[in-house]
Amino acid sequence: MKITMGQIIFEQILVGSYKNFTYLVADPESKEAVIFDPAYDLPKLLRRLDADSLRLTYIVNTHSHHDHIEGNSFLQKTTGAKIVASNISQAKMDIGVQDGNEIDVGGRVKLKFLLTPGHSPDSMCIIVNDFALITGDTLFIGECGRVDLPGGDASELFDSFEKIRKLNPKLVVYPGHDYGRSRSTTLGEQLRDNYTLARRTREEFVKFMYEPQDVEPGL
Ligand SMILES: [Zn+2]
Repeated sequence: MKITMGQIIFEQILVGSYKNFTYLVADPESKEAVIFDPAYDLPKLLRRLDADSLRLTYIVNTHSHHDHIEGNSFLQKTTGAKIVASNISQAKMDIGVQDGNEIDVGGRVKLKFLLTPGHSPDSMCIIVNDFALITGDTLFIGECGRVDLPGGDASELFDSFEKIRKLNPKLVVYPGHDYGRSRSTTLGEQLRDNYTLARRTREEFVKFMYEPQDVEPGL
């Protein structure tokens, strides 16, 4: 899916059997590109880069679960891109970011990193050009990431959601999996409609997150 976003390339690409989303963001003038969460369909991603003569500068991982990083080493070997992840990530990386850090890609693409632990300790969300909010497995459309995998922590996710609530509601949420009724909506719509973002105290939220759910989003 191609999204028109001013002067940059922004594509949401459905990959693999877990309904993962990989994202391609690029500056069409300098040809510098960044890929978020490469794991599957890597030849297709390389062909996509080649089609516009794009040069992969960075690989960004929203967190280090295997279905978000499995393509790192192949893509790095093939393109020489640097791997960017949370500074506490245990996975192989070149640049560890802290909360609020920014990276420019080719002059027109600006990434701002927000550390949002909860689904995993090294989870983060990335704001792209004050337009898109790439949320990984922290927030899905109509759902949120599970906290019962190793390193998951509902109380940390509560704090991460408090951070996300303060962002511009016009940001468009682009999640790490296609688990929702649509592939993206504004943050404002999620704050209104996503039952996991309903107002709760920390205690209520922690209890809510560990209650058995009808549908358990995977990974
Ligand atoms: Zn995950």
